[in-house]
Amino acid sequence: NTLLRFAPSPTGPLHLGGLRTALFNKLFAQSHGGKWILRIEDTDASRCTPGSVDDIRRGLDWAGLAYDFGPGADNSRGPYFQSERLDLYHTYAHRLLETGDAYRCFCSADELQIKREHLKAAGSTSTYDRSCRKLTEEEVTRRVKSRQPFVIRLDDTVAPALSPFSDMLFGDVRDAQGSLPTDPILVKRDLFPTYHLASVVDDHEMGVSHVLRGEEWLPSLPLHRSLYARLKLTAPIFGHLPLLLNPDGSKMSKRHGDVRVSDFIRKGWEPDAVLNWLAFAGRNLNNPELSTRPASVNELISSFSLDHYTNRRTVLDPVLLSQLNKRHIERQLHDESSRNSLLAKALVQLRAVYPDSTILSQDYVLKVIETLKDRLERIGELPETGRIFFDGSLATSLPPPADIELYRSVVRGFRSWVAETTDPSDVETSRKYLSQEIHCSKKDYMAILRHALGGSKHGPPMKEILSLLGPEEILRRLDNQLP
Ligand code: GLU
Repeated sequence: NTLLRFAPSPTGPLHLGGLRTALFNKLFAQSHGGKWILRIEDTDASRCTPGSVDDIRRGLDWAGLAYDFGPGADNSRGPYFQSERLDLYHTYAHRLLETGDAYRCFCSADELQIKREHLKAAGSTSTYDRSCRKLTEEEVTRRVKSRQPFVIRLDDTVAPALSPFSDMLFGDVRDAQGSLPTDPILVKRDLFPTYHLASVVDDHEMGVSHVLRGEEWLPSLPLHRSLYARLKLTAPIFGHLPLLLNPDGSKMSKRHGDVRVSDFIRKGWEPDAVLNWLAFAGRNLNNPELSTRPASVNELISSFSLDHYTNRRTVLDPVLLSQLNKRHIERQLHDESSRNSLLAKALVQLRAVYPDSTILSQDYVLKVIETLKDRLERIGELPETGRIFFDGSLATSLPPPADIELYRSVVRGFRSWVAETTDPSDVETSRKYLSQEIHCSKKDYMAILRHALGGSKHGPPMKEILSLLGPEEILRRLDNQLP
């Protein structure tokens, strides 16, 4: 049975990298008829931040990545917060103590610091001198009885032989050498496990068959495999997803732009476009079958295979996201069921910017989106790009583009023409009509109308603006410009 897990630590908001891992967990699981878990790895209390779990869940929910097991879903493999599973980790840690694979270390933080410095000065790469490994059983019992605090360390000197192994993306990584500390700690002084022990125990206890996670965990793999071997458990199959990079080749980080999923939500990107962007990153481009055609999550699932991916670090190009987003907007406009959710999203953005606007009907907004779709990269830009359709008030605060007398006579003349005509969008005819009385170049004429109706210098063609606004709104706006 294929079962995967996305196992974030709640140490901050959900980032694109985390969303990518969650997406691949879902794609892999569902393309194999399997399921996936959301597990919260909160064993390092000092690094956990309030609100992170909510942020992670909100991000997954926005992206439509519903997990099968996890907080708020099927509870049968829970609890899903590691802080609620401490007894389990202790059981396994004791097993390792009994087999001699682990030992208790009573060294204080200060002592450890001094030891580290000595080792370093002596040119050693070890981080601990293993002194507690040599304590007699009686000494250990005495210290435990006297309640001296301790950590449990894995004994690295007796590493088990590991069987051949292949990472789903990185292949044979037998030589992957982590820069792990000497005799890594499995259980801390506060009785919480470290990530390594908790992750191995939970993947086994929860029945995880495949682990897909970020490349940054590759160095931990020898330790994890060693733990499985010592505990005589079958290890899951591993796949490590290559790092995501900024276009300049640097590691993705906040300093380079948006990395938080909440930023993408706030700016009104389409979740499917973001998911496509992440799913396309790192695909093997020698494979002609693969295009960057916009796809729904279900379409991604049906064509998913890890064979299509390389382990090369991969750039997330913002230009591709914009292209994908436009195409997803178009896709939704053409599909009746998703059109309404697109509209709902647009209305939320519009009401936030124009709380007093009286023209925000569904029909109207839909027509505006249709008109602007080539100029809109994301629905979040609609309030600004479509300003003239939602708000004419900018005109009053900007200087008119012509002599005030001319400006007023054009506005007045155009006003009386609109009041009489059946098609106010026919600007050419209106200009002919006015030229009997007013002398004004075509360029000035258009600039005056654009200003009087909305204020902005640029935007969609006047004809489209006029036909969408309709006579009533046009007259209202023109009147505002007349004394
Ligand atoms: N808790 C780890 C993280 O925050 C997950 C590592 C794993 O998936 O094993 O990234």
